[in-house]
Amino acid sequence: MKKWTQTEIAQTSHIWFSIFIAVNLINLPNLIACFTPCLAWVSVKLWLYSMALTLLACVFGLRVRLMLWLAVPIVLLVPACLASLFSIQSLPTTFLILALLETNPTELSALQGQVILAGLGTLILVMFYVWFVKTRVPVSLRLGTTGRVLVILSLLSPVSYDLVAHGHVVGLAGIKQRLLSTFPSSTFYSAYEAFDLRDRVQNRRDLLGTLAVNQEQSFQDETNRQVHMLVIGESATKNCFGLYGYGRQTTPLLERTQGLLTFRDVSCTAPCTLIAVPSLLTAAPPGKLLEATQQASLLTAYKKAGFRVYWLSTQKKHGTYDTLTSIFSADADEDRFISGKFDNDGRGAYQTAWDVSLLPLVTRLLQRNESKVLFVLHTIGSHGPYPVRYPPELARFPADPQAAINALFRISLDGNGSPQEMELAQNSYDNTICATDFLLANLINELKKVKASSWFYYVSDHGENTATARFGKYMHGIVTRQVVEVPMLIWLSPAYEQAHANKLAALKANLNTPFSASCTFHTLLDMGGLSCPDFKKEWSTASPHFSPGPRMVCDANGNIIDYDKKFPPLQAASKVTPPMETTRSIATGASRP
Ligand SMILES: [Zn+2]
Repeated sequence: MKKWTQTEIAQTSHIWFSIFIAVNLINLPNLIACFTPCLAWVSVKLWLYSMALTLLACVFGLRVRLMLWLAVPIVLLVPACLASLFSIQSLPTTFLILALLETNPTELSALQGQVILAGLGTLILVMFYVWFVKTRVPVSLRLGTTGRVLVILSLLSPVSYDLVAHGHVVGLAGIKQRLLSTFPSSTFYSAYEAFDLRDRVQNRRDLLGTLAVNQEQSFQDETNRQVHMLVIGESATKNCFGLYGYGRQTTPLLERTQGLLTFRDVSCTAPCTLIAVPSLLTAAPPGKLLEATQQASLLTAYKKAGFRVYWLSTQKKHGTYDTLTSIFSADADEDRFISGKFDNDGRGAYQTAWDVSLLPLVTRLLQRNESKVLFVLHTIGSHGPYPVRYPPELARFPADPQAAINALFRISLDGNGSPQEMELAQNSYDNTICATDFLLANLINELKKVKASSWFYYVSDHGENTATARFGKYMHGIVTRQVVEVPMLIWLSPAYEQAHANKLAALKANLNTPFSASCTFHTLLDMGGLSCPDFKKEWSTASPHFSPGPRMVCDANGNIIDYDKKFPPLQAASKVTPPMETTRSIATGASRP
């Protein structure tokens, strides 16, 4: 047997320590996941498993340094995965990647803090990794017998335990589960799933031909024009609506709107647009994106019932093909995306339109005098960066646009800001609600002028965290009270109220009923007197037999949460689990102009 000298032992230990560091650089997300959100033994086992997996090819003779070079593309992904771990306490999931595919450049600018850090982190990490491998790992090094045995044991022992203790089905499921829970295999699989889902959505067939739709006789007998309007809000938290008791007067016009019905206890279906909107427009439950894209939307149903359907959007359609949210615009007879356009020469800024720019468009379309019309307005509402969401004349709270954007940037970097920065952020956010107030009140005025039989329905896709949130201030994407509890408003025209008094009575009876915005599809079909195979009358807020089920929310990781169990009503909350945030109203001290 070979006798090792002290120098040889020191050199060998030095080399193996270097390999340990290099393999950990590749597996940094798995290492950090051990501590996110707290140290967990299961994560430690996954980390060891992933390290062994990295060295698997070396068991079959591949030189260690060559393997480390081959891993450079994986190292490129490490900082982005770390950013995901720090922001959503999870490795990137299918839903997160879908959301990124869906995000447009302006939305990315709201996350510029994280994007810049991830970019810098990638550069620094890759440079360090290349230098480290080049200087510390010998070119011809291969795994010896001990190394090979250690790698094989690390990979086989948990699988063997599963096979012996629970059989081959559990054993195979365990292998899959480990691969889907560790970086980089989990990231590659999530990316594959995200692209696959997007492709399926793009292949959505026109469901119009096969859909069977009936309309109640009282609606068929209407002599008035039927002009209805759904407005999908964006990132509007009801805590900042004067209508809902906010200390600031952010909704003065809506407060003066006669007959406006304010629903007090509505939850969103998901904390981000991508997952939330499909479950508003279809009967698919929260989070069932694929199911949603294969089902008829409420646009399809109204179109089949003879309505002219318009989709008007200040959100972007993203390039030359539909993306997940805007795929439903294809169900309309006509769609207009007024944002996301370059200047006349095809160059220049990728423009974002204000929601109030939809008003003249609606006025013009109403002048077409069509007898049965449905408008669906997908607004940009209160999505960050807030100062670009409203024209200066609608601002009621002082917020210099550039200073507010800088403040929001610093808050996104640090997770908090100075009192002045927080005030700027809140003022600019409140100004977006003022602009929403102006938009909604004026849309209702447009409907009043038409004197048709009309329903008007506003619901925000999800809310937004403000200064009181413990994490993710002035962001959404995570499940908190401010993000989940959304404003919902309905207005009915006098002609509609007269013809369908039963619907009005049912709506009034449900003003304080807790329910999910996933009832939207059923409610809006019912309010047009329509029914189709997916329609459930008991899930219509306009039905006297309204019986909503548990309020489920799909989080950004695709987990389905029973909202009322996770966030019990505030009176009971202190006795059960502490809520993630207080609902103390914002008082930034800014004077009201
Ligand atoms: Zn949204």
